[in-house]
Amino acid sequence: MAELPEWLGDLKGKIAEANRLSDTDTARRIAAEKATNSVIMSTDDLQTGQWDATKILKTTIGGSEWGEKREITPADLARFKKRVAELQKAYVGGILPEQVISLSRTIDIQRAKAEIKSSIIQQALNGKLRFITNSSGKSPEKRHFVNVEFNKQLYNSLAGGGNTTAHQAALRLRKSRVLFECDCGRHTYWYRYIATIGQYNCGRAENGFPKVRNPELRGVACKHVIRVMSEIMHSGYVLATITNMMTKAKSHALNQAQLRGKKVDVLKELEKQANRKTDKIDAQVSKAQAKKNKQELNKEIARLKAIAEKAKAKQAKQAAKLEAEKAKIPPTKKAKKPMSAQQLEREINHIKRLGLTSDQEAAMIAILRQSQGR
Ligand SMILES: [Zn+2]
Repeated sequence: MAELPEWLGDLKGKIAEANRLSDTDTARRIAAEKATNSVIMSTDDLQTGQWDATKILKTTIGGSEWGEKREITPADLARFKKRVAELQKAYVGGILPEQVISLSRTIDIQRAKAEIKSSIIQQALNGKLRFITNSSGKSPEKRHFVNVEFNKQLYNSLAGGGNTTAHQAALRLRKSRVLFECDCGRHTYWYRYIATIGQYNCGRAENGFPKVRNPELRGVACKHVIRVMSEIMHSGYVLATITNMMTKAKSHALNQAQLRGKKVDVLKELEKQANRKTDKIDAQVSKAQAKKNKQELNKEIARLKAIAEKAKAKQAKQAAKLEAEKAKIPPTKKAKKPMSAQQLEREINHIKRLGLTSDQEAAMIAILRQSQGR
């Protein structure tokens, strides 16, 4: 059997390695908060805007995250709070794999495509998958651990429900909202806070506002997570693993299921990934872009429709006003209707009976005829 790649190493001992990394991160975070010169901005600091005078909190907001830091002003605080409130409103708990890709920063997507080509599942445990991806090689780490957790309620209902097969349950799960985390620095210092307030964080909650690295709270996921989400959506290997997990869960009274990645499967999958000609991330990004374009187009159509409706209403109002003005003007007297031939005859006979001189009679008849235009 071929050997596993150097970046991955032996599959044995990987759970302990992942746990060690997680414990180290937790200990580092506790120490950072306890330190006398702590620069962690807690939720309380953010909400009250009041912290110990000895605590100097700085930000890079308005500049580059790698640029110069300056002291936080009340205006900065207001901006932080506004952004937090916006994000809390935008997420309902959990996030769809397709959202992770469509909402990520372009730079993270580009990095995922260029640098993170391999990912395998090392463990599936009770609705939680532990992936291992290669690293970019720019950092001392050889690999990264990405944890993805399906919604517990959904997992249990699919595992316990007799009307779905394990395969159907897997299809459903891979399109459902998940929680995630990665052990890399990008996730730790840029995104773990956002994931925490967005309620799609897995593992350690981060309540320290990223005032230096990500004060605008932009983006969603690191390149490792983006690669993993693309695999969850499109890979047959991931689907098969979730199906196996659900088969086990369905046959267990408490829906428990544990699987470990096997060397033979991992090797096969890595070879498949290495020979890929197209990257599904591209398709996902174009799909998201098309969706966004359509949404924007619909918004524009709605905007134009609203303008047209408004113009129409204005016109109707003006017409009604004009009608009202017209109604105020008294109607002009109707011109008298010309006499009928019979009426004229009667009038003439009436004149003739008046006993006038023939000259007077002729004159009156002439006036009468003139008045009638005859
Ligand atoms: Zn990462």
